[in-house]
Amino acid sequence: MPEELEVEVTDVVSEWTKFLKKQYKRELAELAREYPHKRSLYIDYRKILNNKLAFELLRVPGKVISDIKDAIIQNRLIKLKDGREPSEINIRFNNLPQKVNARDIRADQINTFVSIEGILRKTTEVRPRLVDAVFRCKACGKNTDPLPQNYSRFEEPEFCPHCERKTRMDLVLNRCRFVDAQKLRIQESPEGLRGGEQPQTLDIDATDDLTGMVAPGDRVVVNGILRSIQRINYGQKSTLFDIYVECNSIEVAEKEFEEVEISEEDEESIRSLARDGSIYKKIARSIAPTIYGTDDVKEAIALQLFGGIAKEMPDGSRLRGDIHLLLVGDPGIAKSQILRYVVKLSPRGIYTSGKSSTSAGLTATAVKDEFGDGRWTLEAGALVLADMGVAAVDEMDKMAKEDRSALHEAMEQQSISVAKAGITATLKSRCALLGAANPKLGRFDQFVPIAEQINMPPSLLSRFDLIFVMADQPEAQRDGAIANHIVKTHAVGELIKQHAYNPIPDVDEAYIQRALAPVIPDIDPVLLRKYIAFSKRTCFPILSEGAKDALIQYYMKLRNLASGNKPVPVTARQLEALVRLAEASARMRLSNTVDTTDTDRVLRIVDTCLRQVAYD
Ligand code: ADP
Ligand code: MG
Repeated sequence: MPEELEVEVTDVVSEWTKFLKKQYKRELAELAREYPHKRSLYIDYRKILNNKLAFELLRVPGKVISDIKDAIIQNRLIKLKDGREPSEINIRFNNLPQKVNARDIRADQINTFVSIEGILRKTTEVRPRLVDAVFRCKACGKNTDPLPQNYSRFEEPEFCPHCERKTRMDLVLNRCRFVDAQKLRIQESPEGLRGGEQPQTLDIDATDDLTGMVAPGDRVVVNGILRSIQRINYGQKSTLFDIYVECNSIEVAEKEFEEVEISEEDEESIRSLARDGSIYKKIARSIAPTIYGTDDVKEAIALQLFGGIAKEMPDGSRLRGDIHLLLVGDPGIAKSQILRYVVKLSPRGIYTSGKSSTSAGLTATAVKDEFGDGRWTLEAGALVLADMGVAAVDEMDKMAKEDRSALHEAMEQQSISVAKAGITATLKSRCALLGAANPKLGRFDQFVPIAEQINMPPSLLSRFDLIFVMADQPEAQRDGAIANHIVKTHAVGELIKQHAYNPIPDVDEAYIQRALAPVIPDIDPVLLRKYIAFSKRTCFPILSEGAKDALIQYYMKLRNLASGNKPVPVTARQLEALVRLAEASARMRLSNTVDTTDTDRVLRIVDTCLRQVAYD
């Protein structure tokens, strides 16, 4: 530690006193009034202008917290009405400038103050934990002094401090001190991961008034002291230590993190793209360019990425703006590839399989597991983690039954309710779902109506805004084109690799660019992400009269056609879907009105989809 930091303790205490008196008068008075209901003093890190104090907090947070408590007690900064001392004040810090990633935490950070950003994956029930234990000797009947307890292990005295005999000691429960405790697990946010990386997690120990504050799926910043704890393997103490964060404060991000930064230059390029007459084609061509064809699917995905507008009704209910898509198709038709690409493109995308690898599955589960040391634990599944983004769910036909029923609520209300044992919670899942599924028998049978071959109940199907059927029928011209495209893609890949290792003089950049042309997206993915984010942030189009008429007429026609027993029922949901899709279409060119060019475009797509499933 640099020399100038070695100050006398009393110096530091008086500096903190000065600081508190100057900056936190109001908060201290409020604590005095509301104690013990309110018992935490929140200090904004940005207000600690004294560099020495700020630096000390990061390096030796435990000492700083006790210095501040000393400052409060010695100078009676909190005067309770009845004249007593406030015994249980928490000193909490927030708004730290530097965040660290869960994966970047290293040994030299142990016992320092850290600030970690991420998404909550698991939370346990809130239960009391023993902090100070008082024991009574079975032999002499005297009580011990309070014995501070560890985070995870119960410590008992080996012999009585009074009669010095080795006897059994009883816990004196009414003399012990407990604190509410809850364990959390934070996971890196999906947008911070480079494609394909598994997110890392970190465990958080939250106590007292920090418990019960957050739910799985919440985006949070956790501030606290990084602690280590020795591992025990089969009763043997190991040299390896586990780490956790002793939570000091939690900041919940109410809205989306504005993670996509858009500069003025970006905005200029976005606006000029939006004016381009061929913007629709350009965006669709920028989605999974290595996949040949499937233009209608790509167009629909483009609409999904932009999304319609969520609406709050006067009665408090909410209509979703997110667009759900389902691709049903033969194996090997690039469904999975498309899903993976979309996840990379979406500012907040999560890829998962219906057969799901995690115990939480698609939605959420409450289980008793070792994470909570036998406590009930609530864990968020993919649709919760993808809140405010796109959840790509592959192999949807193979998902578990429980997931299937929870999916109904997740897709329409965009929330997931869990009520099990001690846990009741409603988690948010405001995401757009892009599902992929194989037909019932693995392949489409061309002699059976397609609608009968989709292995999902009508109640679920009706929640998708669009359903695409992708049948793999040999068709010489198309097959040739795909083959050509695939071979070219591979060849280009080869070429780039070779060129990187061993630049070939006569293979110049221009040649590579020409060769790459068919698989290069029209709009660079980084710019497209910004385009999408910009549009979702700033563009809230309204339906023109013409657009309204067109949608209503089309809906009436559908209802008429669909009377009778159709596998995909036409309900009011379809009308809502039409509105969402049309709004998304207007958003794609940053327009504030949805006009008939939008409804024309959308109705053409809807018509192709319905032709395949609803009235074939
Ligand atoms: P699915 O999930 O539909 O079973 P995959 O996404 O695993 O299929 O695709 C299988 C392979 O076939 C992938 O490597 C994909 O790139 C290739 N492929 C299939 N259709 C096309 C296409 N239209 N254009 C380019 N590649 C394709
Ligand atoms: Mg697949």
